[in-house]
Formats: sequence, structure tokens, C-alpha cells
Amino acid sequence: MSDKQIALVTGASRGIGLAIAQRLIRDGYRVVGTATSEGGVEKLRAVLKESGDEHDALLLNIADSEQSEAALKHLQADYGVPRVVVNNAGITRDNLFLRLSEDDWNSVLNTNLSGVFRVCKALSKAMLKQKAGSIINISSVIGTTGNAGQANYAAAKAGLEGFTRSLAQEIASRNITVNCVAPGFIQTDMTDVLPETQKEAILASIPGKRFGHVEDIAGAVAFLASDDARYITGQTIHVNGGMNMG
Ligand code: NAP
Repeated sequence: MSDKQIALVTGASRGIGLAIAQRLIRDGYRVVGTATSEGGVEKLRAVLKESGDEHDALLLNIADSEQSEAALKHLQADYGVPRVVVNNAGITRDNLFLRLSEDDWNSVLNTNLSGVFRVCKALSKAMLKQKAGSIINISSVIGTTGNAGQANYAAAKAGLEGFTRSLAQEIASRNITVNCVAPGFIQTDMTDVLPETQKEAILASIPGKRFGHVEDIAGAVAFLASDDARYITGQTIHVNGGMNMG
């Protein structure tokens, strides 16, 4: 049995979540990453175990209350109470508001906002007892700026930041910090689907003159998880190359 602290990373099968999982492994955590399909879990498990047999992957669909509750019970029974929880899993269903369906509204809110509620709800009691922990929620620059075609996503991410500040106030006295990292434009599957013209326009708006790498986000998460950040709570760290400085 490993005596390392446990870090849970949701949506670790690819993109930002995978980079966070790999960074936290390097920083000495025993990492449990999640994916939404059995195939994804197998692949992720193989990738994480390349860094040591103690790391593992778990099936988790944060859009499903019952599945989430059962999976996170299983997590605590099999691995212990996480010291670090990174709520990274998220989706987009973009459309201009006039064409935005209620289904697309609901699925983004249900995953990106209610999904984080479910994970925190399932783990917070045990984390409070443990009297130590860091919860890090992956928001977005869009939660601050809004974006045409992303009313659902912007609402979910702005809501996530409000949720973060409220939970932070409730549990700060138990030595648990709750913060957000808000990425700008990071090269992943989520942004690969955007049209080239849109990517060019976004690039032109970034003073740093490059898109972000997944490791840029992992670095900010690693800092918030570390002892150096013990006195930081209820905050949002923007990692966006200067795309928004507001
Ligand atoms: P991505 O490449 O599309 O990966 C999304 C991850 O979330 C996958 O691991 C996926 O699992 C998981 N996921 C999706 N729905 C889920 C559900 N219902 N339950 C559990 N896991 C689920 O996305 P990304 O670009 O890495 O984004 C990661 C986070 O950063 C998201 O919260 C996103 O909103 C945020 N963000 C990204 C950018 C960007 O530019 N990329 C910018 C700002 C914020 P499967 O592989 O199993 O589907």
C-alpha cells in the first residue's frame, strides 16, 4: 500500500486532465484519473501505470448522479480520501443563442457545473474529517468574458467560480482550499474542432502570441495543490497568455 497522498483528476483520459495527472504524479502524488468509457479507463490505466503501479483509472460520468456517487464511494474505499481533487472534466455544446437547444443548455450545465457539485458532495465529508485538502476546479476565461456561441458554457463556468468562492468560505477553517484555474485557449481536442478563421482571430487576441499548452494549466494546478498555496483560497488563477487581463 502506497503512503503517498491521493490526487483525483476527473477527465484525465486526454487533454488538460491527462497533463494534470502526469504533473501530479511527478510531484509525488498517487493519482487516480477518470474516463467516461471502459475503453478510456483501460487506456488511461495503461498510461498512468507507466509511471508506477500505484496509479489507477476509474470509470466516472459526472453527468450521472448515481454513477458518480457509486464510483466515488468505490474510490474512497479502494484508495482512501483524496488530498487533492481536480475537477477538470468538461464539455462544450456551442451554438448561437437563437439556435441553442434546451438539451445543449442542460447537458453543459449538468456536466460542467452540477458535475462538480456531485464530486464535491461525494468527497467533502471525508475531506473535512481529514482536515487537509485542495479542491481545484477548471473554469475558463469564457466564464469571465462570455463568448458569442457559448452562453451555456459561459454560464456554467461563471457559476463554477461562484460555487468555488462559496465552498471556499464554508470549508477554509478545516484547512481545505478551493480555487479555480481558468485557462484561455489551450490546444486540445476541445479546441481542435474550431474553424481555422476562429483560431486565427483568437491567436491575434493573445499578447503572448501562442496558444496555451496543457502543461501551462498543469503547472498552475500543481502550484494550487502545493504547500506554497496553503493561504490561497476562493481565487481564480487565469492562465491565458494575456488574452484577458480584467
Ligand atoms: P477535452 O480534451 O475535450 O477532454 C475532456 C475530458 O473530460 C475528457 O477526459 C472526457 O472524458 C471528460 N469528460 C467529458 N464529459 C464527462 C463526464 N460527463 N464525466 C466525466 N468526464 C467527462 O477537454 P480539455 O480541453 O482538456 O478541457 C478540460 C477542461 O478545461 C474542461 O473543463 C474545459 O472546459 C476546460 N477548458 C479548456 C480550454 C481549452 O482551450 N482547451 C479552455 C478553457 C477551459 P472522455 O475522454 O471519457 O470523453
